[in-house]
Amino acid sequence: MMKPLSFQHEERRLRVRLGDDALDGLLDELEMLGCSRAWVVMTPGRAAYGEQVQEILSERCVGVFTGAVQHVPRSAIVAAQRALEACGADCCIAVGGGSPIGLAKALALESSVPLPIIAIPTTYSGSEATTIWGLTEGGRKITGRDPRVAPTVILYIPSWTVGLPAGLSAASGVNAMAHCVEALYAADANPMTQLMAAEGVRALSQALPGIQRSPSDLGARGRALWGAFLAGRALDGASMGVHHKLCHVLGGSCGLPHARTHAVVLPYAIAYNAPATPEAMTTLRTALGDAQQPAATQLYRLNQALAVPSSLSALGLKRPDLVPIV
Ligand code: NAD
Repeated sequence: MMKPLSFQHEERRLRVRLGDDALDGLLDELEMLGCSRAWVVMTPGRAAYGEQVQEILSERCVGVFTGAVQHVPRSAIVAAQRALEACGADCCIAVGGGSPIGLAKALALESSVPLPIIAIPTTYSGSEATTIWGLTEGGRKITGRDPRVAPTVILYIPSWTVGLPAGLSAASGVNAMAHCVEALYAADANPMTQLMAAEGVRALSQALPGIQRSPSDLGARGRALWGAFLAGRALDGASMGVHHKLCHVLGGSCGLPHARTHAVVLPYAIAYNAPATPEAMTTLRTALGDAQQPAATQLYRLNQALAVPSSLSALGLKRPDLVPIV
């Protein structure tokens, strides 16, 4: 007898283009959104890509903002809100990693009128595919979920990620993989999120070693973006567990770097959780490439192949740093 199926799943409006010609579709996407006054946001490091976007938009570009910074501080939101209001934009194009996409989300969250977002991600954070927002206020990071902040268009351009250094690519990619892994055993997982999570693990575990070997391998870069998209969708549809909670505390209380902390903790968190999640582990082992070998071992070896540190002490954590949180 098969276990009866019973689940809830929500889909929302989203258009995705992946490929080195994805940017060619920008004006069509803008038209489909019914928008004609675009405002482009990025971190200073991605300004060259912003210029390419601006060139294509031509007179449809009403402003450019390069003041996105990590952790979406209130000061950046206030400055961006002023700039956005001054130019009367009807949509926002976020170019870069989780930081500019996070700023665009904060603006959409606090806007009195809908602010459609077109995201052009240059890392594997997966933020572009979620309804999750986060911002920092009074020294505290707050997060939430709101459908208004989810980008309605995503353009994935593999060549725009070639500049992401191998180490950052590896950490960012394993961070995305962590979303997939925890989505596999989430209490509110459903067959759709599990499908996306398993394919996300498969895509990322194949792509990341390829990027490590050859950072300009566009096939591997594109596949990693595909994995990151699936990771974002899985993260959006399922609650995260012990791994994400540990990393949240370690990042928030001990100031450890976001993506690399995820990468270090993942094999250990999965070794701990494996006995309680046998079905998810079967799927995970296969998605990682070896149905016989424990998932935690495969994740640990993947980290080694990617030259990701294998301990928190290698990230600078000292035993006394843990005292306030244990
Ligand atoms: P980020 O945008 O700050 O990028 C990290 C670094 O990579 C920056 O120094 C940036 O300048 C650089 N960079 C980006 N693209 C590059 C490229 N193509 N070449 C060279 N350098 C490049 O952050 P991130 O790592 O993309 O994402 C992490 C942030 O996103 C965290 O704040 C995290 O909380 C958030 N996040 C949010 C969600 C969500 O659903 N809301 C999901 C995952 C992560």
